[in-house]
Amino acid sequence: MSALDRGEVDVLVVGAGLAGHCAALSAREAGASVLLIEKMPEYGGSSLMSGASFAFAGTSQQKEQGIDDSPDLLRKDLLEVGDHKNDPALVDLYVDNQLDTYAWLKQAGVEFHPVQLSSNMSAARGHPTFPRQVFNELHPRLAEAGVEYAPNTAASALHADADGRVREVELSIGGKSRKIRVNRGVVLTTGGFARSDDLVQKFVPDQAPALRYGGQGSTGDGIRMAWALGADVADVGYVMATFGIAMPDFPGSNRKYDGERPLLHAMYRGGIIVNREAKRFISEANSYKTLGDASLKQPDALGFQIFDQNIMDQSIKAPKTHDYAGALELGVLRQANSIADLAREVGLNPDTLVETVDRYNAAVDAGGDTELGRKTLAMGVGKLVRLDRAPFYIYPCAPSLFTTYGGVKVNGELEVVRIDGKPLAGLYAAGEVMGGFHGKGYMSGSANGKCSVFGRIAGRNAALNNA
Ligand SMILES: Cc1cc2nc3c(=O)[nH]c(=O)nc-3n(C[C@H](O)[C@H](O)[C@H](O)COP(=O)(O)OP(=O)(O)OC[C@H]3O[C@@H](n4cnc5c(N)ncnc54)[C@H](O)[C@@H]3O)c2cc1C
Repeated sequence: MSALDRGEVDVLVVGAGLAGHCAALSAREAGASVLLIEKMPEYGGSSLMSGASFAFAGTSQQKEQGIDDSPDLLRKDLLEVGDHKNDPALVDLYVDNQLDTYAWLKQAGVEFHPVQLSSNMSAARGHPTFPRQVFNELHPRLAEAGVEYAPNTAASALHADADGRVREVELSIGGKSRKIRVNRGVVLTTGGFARSDDLVQKFVPDQAPALRYGGQGSTGDGIRMAWALGADVADVGYVMATFGIAMPDFPGSNRKYDGERPLLHAMYRGGIIVNREAKRFISEANSYKTLGDASLKQPDALGFQIFDQNIMDQSIKAPKTHDYAGALELGVLRQANSIADLAREVGLNPDTLVETVDRYNAAVDAGGDTELGRKTLAMGVGKLVRLDRAPFYIYPCAPSLFTTYGGVKVNGELEVVRIDGKPLAGLYAAGEVMGGFHGKGYMSGSANGKCSVFGRIAGRNAALNNA
């Protein structure tokens, strides 16, 4: 008889993205009966749309590529990027368990492509994957391991017993409500709140003009359900839009586009970013969150990445943020043989754009950009390059809120913590729904990293919670 028919299960995992899959498999490995529910018809959430790079340090791949990195450097970077606003216990938990999770994912069949340098890393440690391939490996393992999976099944409320322990979850299946008793623990892996206007307005109203992207299920359900039981939140005020989502149909453009919108970061290979006035406005070496915040303040909140054929030649399939050739095929990049013609492609002033690129190239020749202080390609790494080899490319893009890095507060066991500091017994959280790990800033790859590392730990802890 299924858990839903019995009306009880040891561990209920709520939300079938990356964190949910990792939590469910790990709870099962620890010996519990497990039900993984997903409110949408399809599993995957934001995880399936992701650039799918993982921040791991000290891996065999890095060694093979001659990259000097270590868990201690990862810890230092995470704390510095988070401006020490992150919970050091969560950072330690991540650092101490990430290599084991890397090995676990590889053993599960996940394929990692060559390691890349990305935003807010002082050493190249982005381990790219294809998200579909990740799920093609992890999802069938649920059934093999004996995890029950129920799509179109939403958790709508959590109920605690007289001792305050979460014991029962209200579900909505096809519009009908029913309850399930949970013997050991509930793991919230419901993702973020980027698709919730009211939560964005409540936590980060200045980010409200950003585009909304990410999983349709990212409506903050986990935060709301935990809140109703008195849970605290962490880091929610630090959420920032990410720079670089394709915007081919921007205001004033003559193009209509309804295809997939890639996320491209050609500036980290040496491209520049200009606004609608064809002027640079920030050092492109900043993290894509800082770039997102700065571009939100530009006319129509638009940015235009500009690069040349030398950068196009570095196009790779994974991570998708550097798949320039793919973006050209999708029609979100425009191409021209001169900078002036490039400007005309998107309605920028050709003279101003030529002057901007000339001034930038002269600064590169002189050894650095004094205007906006760009000294490197990205976050202190990489030598600036001239943009002078035709054809040239322009990529209109916008800041987009697709991942929200704050959420319910958890302790070092990944138990949800109440506003009075006490744990909510029997309730765990992992992945984007949890707060406290990133602090004020975000290292690329650490969101997928935290889904896998913390998903596994939360699932195991819930399974072993026999109280
Ligand atoms: C375009 C894009 C690119 C990104 N690139 C990267 C990257 O390269 N590196 C990186 O580290 N991070 C990246 N991120 C962020 C990262 O992918 C996400 O933070 C992460 O995938 C979130 O995983 P999750 O399992 O916590 O949530 P999700 O994958 O969103 O899964 C949550 C699931 O819970 C379901 N759910 C919600 N509420 C309920 C409910 N009440 N009942 C049942 N089910 C529910 C949702 O429908 C969803 O399927 C990217 C995100 C996007 C959108």
